[in-house]
Amino acid sequence: MATLLELREEPHWSYSALNTYLNMCSLKFAFQYVYKAESERTAASLPFGRAFHIAATHHAQSVMQGKRMTLPELHDVFAQWFKLECAACTNLTFKNGESINSLTEQARFMLDALLARWIDWNNIVSVAHAFKVQVPGLGKPLVGEYDMVIKDGETTSIVDWKTSAARWSEGKAGRDFQATAFSFAYLLEEDHGMIPLFRFDVVTKTKNPSLENHYTQRTKDDLYRFQLLALAVERAVKQEVFLPAETSFCCGDCQFASACKEWHRSSAAKHICMAA
Ligand code: SF4
Repeated sequence: MATLLELREEPHWSYSALNTYLNMCSLKFAFQYVYKAESERTAASLPFGRAFHIAATHHAQSVMQGKRMTLPELHDVFAQWFKLECAACTNLTFKNGESINSLTEQARFMLDALLARWIDWNNIVSVAHAFKVQVPGLGKPLVGEYDMVIKDGETTSIVDWKTSAARWSEGKAGRDFQATAFSFAYLLEEDHGMIPLFRFDVVTKTKNPSLENHYTQRTKDDLYRFQLLALAVERAVKQEVFLPAETSFCCGDCQFASACKEWHRSSAAKHICMAA
């Protein structure tokens, strides 16, 4: 099976691209995926989340081999990857008082919570499982990676690890676009023919981190709605409909904020107005 990196070498759709267009800002989508503009800054939460994922992946792979990682082992994996991920970022920015060292220390408590609340000992089917599926009607395949797939009796679940500044509200998992995209992908993959359960394992980035399991499941109707949304995004992108979402929640952290300020003076903006 190809890795996610290999699958990304070919033209494709990803959950995050669709989510950026639909739920964040279509202009941010354009800067990132179409114009491939240089990022002005990268919030430290991004490499932090990646390194946490890698550590959780290492632990899940160890469990599959019948071994449990200790907290120091897991923290070493995190620390190494966090440094590498930070070094690869453009203009890394930290929130007040944060640094690579303070975040590395914070991760120790979060990994401790992950180990203390780990519940998947004998049911892991796969870890870091890359997928590529054809959503009917889309011009490019949808690619992604399930963090972990587990099976309890007849029930298959996709598990996704998240780090979050605060506890998730009730109902957040039920509305989450990633769960819909990945459930659809799983249904479309060969031999499956069923919609899996989806579980987010959310570790809070707080003083006393907690790990909560948030379960959700999609219906066929949810997947049909996803399909139509994805087709609509593809069509809008072909027609270059990219507009600033002036009050988007992600403006504050946007890595293209300066370019966005100039947008109305650009040929891209004029193109939309001329076409209207
Ligand atoms: S600053 Fe806000 S409106 Fe502008 S591209 Fe970024 S997210 Fe979109």
